[in-house]
Amino acid sequence: MNSVDPKAFMAVTAAARLLAIDDSELIHRLLKFRLQHERLEIHGAINAREGLVMARELQPDVILLDIDMEDMNGFDVLTTLKNDPLTQDIAVIFISGTEEAMDKVRALDQGAVDFVTKPFEVVELKARVRTAIRSQRLLKMLAQRAQIDGLTGLWNRAYMDQRLAAEVDEARRHGQPLSMILCDIDRFKHHNDHFGHPFGDLVIERFAQILSGGRSSDVACRYGGEEFCVILPSTTAIEAEEVANRYREQLEHIAWSDHPGLVVTASFGVTELGSGRDTVESILKAADTALYHAKQGGRNRVVVSAPA
Ligand code: GH3
Ligand code: MG
Ligand code: MG
Repeated sequence: MNSVDPKAFMAVTAAARLLAIDDSELIHRLLKFRLQHERLEIHGAINAREGLVMARELQPDVILLDIDMEDMNGFDVLTTLKNDPLTQDIAVIFISGTEEAMDKVRALDQGAVDFVTKPFEVVELKARVRTAIRSQRLLKMLAQRAQIDGLTGLWNRAYMDQRLAAEVDEARRHGQPLSMILCDIDRFKHHNDHFGHPFGDLVIERFAQILSGGRSSDVACRYGGEEFCVILPSTTAIEAEEVANRYREQLEHIAWSDHPGLVVTASFGVTELGSGRDTVESILKAADTALYHAKQGGRNRVVVSAPA
């Protein structure tokens, strides 16, 4: 499903995962004991290298990071975390044995969210961990929301452009097919003008639901107005054509309760990654041309772009 999963939003209050990277066994025991009744899943690494591996694998919400460790210092660990797309968004709280102001400044400048000095009050640490987790989750939610269309809950065009580029790279690297469907509701202006804008919005919402009902790997986006696009990884044009026809029929068969007898349709252009269609621009252009032919051919149909 491509529309936003409400469960993802509820995760804001779910149990969080904490990773402590510290070479003092005492700290790990203390954290486990004192944080055991918090809604926290606690993991520990006793050196920097192990911590970096665990950070990638566990994807914790927050990392407590010791500055002074034998194998690597905390600043270098932080730089490594921030340079890795898999770990760069994890909130990092530094734990230091010194009150050195310059260390605090450097840690915060490098992207740590907080700084705690040993020996620390566990109640204070708990409060700081809670705050870090809350802020990090809200940031993640905001970033996601900026890529989601408000009316339909589908991904928006900004996200689509970026995702299509990533999927093209992925398909090329693995020699996998990749298809794309561009579609546009037919005579939409007429429906809007005759039945009102709110009805037009309802049509858009229902069509979006249909488009998000495909495989979980398919990516449905609202391209703009009454135009949509679906990216279909590991899918050939022949398969994508079948999918588009299924979507076409589902829309055509909707019974609109306020307007008995009304049939709303859409036209579809399908294309597959291939020679001459190997960039985001050329794929979009091919899909757009196929969609144009579907409109010209009488609408309510699927046209697959001819091989380039
Ligand atoms: P065609 O069959 O050739 O696609 O004709 P059309 O009328 O669907 O195409 P056109 O592009 O002329 O009209 C699209 C209309 O969609 C114009 C615009 O006012 C309307 N529209 C765009 N976004 C929205 C929206 O969010 N809600 C509603 N209700 N209407 C919208
Ligand atoms: Mg239209
Ligand atoms: Mg249009």
